[in-house]
Amino acid sequence: RAKTEGRATYRVFDPEMAKSANLRRQMEVDLREAIVADRFELHYQPIMNIRQGGVAACEALLRWNDPKRGLIPPMEFIPLAEEIGVIGEIGEMVLRKACVEAMAWSSDIKVSVNVSPLQFNSRDLMADVAGALAASGLSPHRLDLEITESVLLAHTEDVLETLHRLRATGVRISMDDFGTGYSSLNYLRRFPFDKIKIDKSFVRDVDSSEDATVIVRAVTNIAGSLGMITTAEGIETLEQRERVRAGGCAEAQGYLFCRPLPAAMLRPMLDELALDTRAVA
Ligand code: C2E
Ligand code: MG
Ligand code: MG
Ligand code: MG
Repeated sequence: RAKTEGRATYRVFDPEMAKSANLRRQMEVDLREAIVADRFELHYQPIMNIRQGGVAACEALLRWNDPKRGLIPPMEFIPLAEEIGVIGEIGEMVLRKACVEAMAWSSDIKVSVNVSPLQFNSRDLMADVAGALAASGLSPHRLDLEITESVLLAHTEDVLETLHRLRATGVRISMDDFGTGYSSLNYLRRFPFDKIKIDKSFVRDVDSSEDATVIVRAVTNIAGSLGMITTAEGIETLEQRERVRAGGCAEAQGYLFCRPLPAAMLRPMLDELALDTRAVA
């Protein structure tokens, strides 16, 4: 290949590059093996209702439990899974696991599942969702799908139709990480979201910056007038919680309330959080 690219680009052997190519190849082999061996687990982070108190939902956050490397966070393997075409299988497994595990919680607590944009293209997301609901017995009203703006950039008409069909079954749709991508207010008008999750990069600054607080309030006002609520992500301090609540957010999520926990550790935590005054006091 280097030859056909012409003289200007001929390559010198770079041992660092070879090393990272090998690492990546090994990671790919391990990831495929992890799918077969089912080496994934979901951790859950409660999302608090900051108006009435209590837990509104728990977000399922994927971890890969690798025998050599330990627990690997999603940002370190989801892009690879998307690249090598296995995100569909992983996404379907996540939906199934999350729906089963949510059956163990109080029926007024929903489960939020992150969905990759590629699950809209290469998979029948409707069938995956219906399969996960049927197998678990979870009510569709307890399932919330989180999608990012990148879903909306391509194949817009198909995506729009899928979102409408999902909502018609009772499943809810949230826009995740709002404000980080090609945020367009037009998306909010065109797509049937129930909830907007304001990215933690805005929340981080509400302590120190009046502008960040103004943005939270403005997004919440627009969302409200379109019939949507907002969730503030990444709440780490009481002051941040106070500001996002003053800005009108209905829900908040972050280390202040609870870190993501393995399913077995979540159960007792849900009972405690039901009475947790940090959400409202
Ligand atoms: P996300 O959906 O925006 O999830 C929130 C992330 O913020 C999680 O990181 C969570 O642990 C972290 N977080 C929660 N509270 C705080 C806080 O107070 N401070 C800070 N600094 N961070 C906080 P995590 O678990 O590493 O997940 C990262 C991203 O990976 C997620 O961002 C989501 O985009 C993606 N992801 C996670 N699980 C899945 C999955 O099952 N499928 C797909 N396609 N993507 C997933
Ligand atoms: Mg999310
Ligand atoms: Mg997010
Ligand atoms: Mg995020």
